[in-house]
Amino acid sequence: PQLEHVQVADIFGHIQLLMGSECESNDITLKVEMEPQNIVVTADMEQIEQVLINLVKNAVQALQENGSNDGAEKEVVLTGGLGKGNRPVIKVKDNGPGIEPEALDRIFIPFFTTKKQGSGIGLSLSRQIMRQHKGAITVASHPGEGTEFTLKF
Ligand code: ADP
Ligand code: MG
Repeated sequence: PQLEHVQVADIFGHIQLLMGSECESNDITLKVEMEPQNIVVTADMEQIEQVLINLVKNAVQALQENGSNDGAEKEVVLTGGLGKGNRPVIKVKDNGPGIEPEALDRIFIPFFTTKKQGSGIGLSLSRQIMRQHKGAITVASHPGEGTEFTLKF
């Protein structure tokens, strides 16, 4: 990867520009939350944006197909924060249907998909990109509660 120092606020701004209208046309609110405001990651900006686009698209598709888990307003939330040792953390959370435990073990495997027209490439590529950054991607999901992906740098 082409590493540079990138403001997470700038990354989130691009994602809002790229994904905002697709969210809007599906009645999905795309929220951004950052604390502190000035988080910087050492990353290949294009690659990290590709990961976030994959995650937001998956969230949108899950919400499109199945609606929000509780009939609440459909939303996707991007969060920037600092974790252990002040390491940057980015989360992508949706209040969609969630992922069954049997599927949850397999979603990062290449070509695993539950979609009719799915490729099953997005998450395996995302994990590869995070590993190339010496970072990680993890998921927490419960059916009926939604899904949260965490990127650690
Ligand atoms: P694809 O989107 O082509 O199916 P991905 O690798 O992006 O491939 O995702 C793999 C699978 O993970 C999806 O088919 C879906 O079952 C599950 N998944 C990923 N993100 C979510 C999400 N936010 N909510 C529910 N299921 C998800
Ligand atoms: Mg996908």
